[in-house]
Amino acid sequence: MKRFTYLLFLVLLALSAHAQRAKYVFFFIGDGMGLNQVNTTEMYLGEQNGRIGTQPLTFASFPVAGMATTYSATNSITDSAAGGTALATGSKTYNGAIGVDPDKQTLTSVAEQAKRSGRKVGVTTSVSIDHATPASFYAHQPDRGMYYEIAQDMLAAGFDFYAGGGFLKPDRTHDGRQAPSIFPQIEQAGYTLARGVDEYQAKRDAASKMVLIQKEGADPASLPYAIDRRPGDLTLKQITESAIDFLTRDNNKGFFLMVEGGKIDWACHNNDVATAVNEVMDLDEAVKVAYDFYQKHPKETLIVITADHETGGLGLGRSGYTLALKSLANQDNSQEMLSRAITDLRKDKAHKATWDDVKALLSREMGFWTELPISWEQEKMLRDVYEESFVHNHVKFAESMYAKTEPLAAAARQVMSQLALVGWTSGDHTAEYVPVFAIGAGSQAFSGKMDNTDIPKRIAKAAGYK
Ligand SMILES: [Zn+2]
Repeated sequence: MKRFTYLLFLVLLALSAHAQRAKYVFFFIGDGMGLNQVNTTEMYLGEQNGRIGTQPLTFASFPVAGMATTYSATNSITDSAAGGTALATGSKTYNGAIGVDPDKQTLTSVAEQAKRSGRKVGVTTSVSIDHATPASFYAHQPDRGMYYEIAQDMLAAGFDFYAGGGFLKPDRTHDGRQAPSIFPQIEQAGYTLARGVDEYQAKRDAASKMVLIQKEGADPASLPYAIDRRPGDLTLKQITESAIDFLTRDNNKGFFLMVEGGKIDWACHNNDVATAVNEVMDLDEAVKVAYDFYQKHPKETLIVITADHETGGLGLGRSGYTLALKSLANQDNSQEMLSRAITDLRKDKAHKATWDDVKALLSREMGFWTELPISWEQEKMLRDVYEESFVHNHVKFAESMYAKTEPLAAAARQVMSQLALVGWTSGDHTAEYVPVFAIGAGSQAFSGKMDNTDIPKRIAKAAGYK
């Protein structure tokens, strides 16, 4: 009897271990999404509902939560290459490195482990497919700027599904030499290239492997910001849906899918809080697709959400004991679009735009004066920038990592942060903790404090990758 009980115990143990195995893995990375990017979004949604407090995002409601440190091997503050490499391979490296260690030796990513273990693999992003975060999962290059070489590595990795904005250097090597275009090579390597979701749907049946990018004419650097989106634009949600569709066709071995919300970082480099909040909500829309999948396969699915680093040093509160996040709802477009609108105004009025013209534009785009009262100091600041850049024609563009912004747009976003009562410490990344959220098979491993390098190791363990 004792022996029988022992055997029964072993069988139950084996069964429960089996039930815990994550056959389907979703790994979401919000680039630049620190704790406060999430908190700001949830408190903004709370204010939108007329109350103080948070309105939870789907991913931030997951039962397991932790936090991770993000420093790199060489810097207290990581870049997206070392951060991506840590999340992909479980090893720290120098800033700028893609999938290689400090001695430039090739590291193995959790996506490569998944592939080796017979899973289907997808790597997707809202920025270009050859950008640092997605590249860290399939490429091995000493410098993140080697876009052409990274795209070659994408084909060599042979994963099943790639998606994103496009390719930054489809026909030019990192030292500027003309090279054979990546596009015919994609097809020669056995991939089907789809431009947009309609083409994806038309081509999926005949495709064995897939590269999904935006329609011809779109900016290959990224999908448009969620706040700027127009009908017909490719979205991260559609990419996630297409990836699940593709990776589950006649497949019973499971998949590993990485989805990057890449432009939270870009908006935060610009200190553009309304655009960042919309990007976080947009990442949540993609997570909801995964969560629907999880609800159909709860015992076999693991969803992990984290960030490679925080960007901007976003702080909630700048004086007094209140926030006014709902001010952000008055901003119609990203600061990049506002910058373009200001440049257009300059041209349309043949360099003779009046202060009233500028005021009309800012109230239309940002709700200033009409919806949001502007203080005397704020008006003076905006007006001084107007005098300098419109009257004296000294246009000194404000440069951040991913954008050149009209001085008036830069001043307007500063005013918007003041109105919302949020602050920024940096135009770059910071060393703040990033959040980790998880649900499903093996998710218990993601609670508490960890280092970013622990995350892929715990994913590989939960999924049983070799
Ligand atoms: Zn960045």
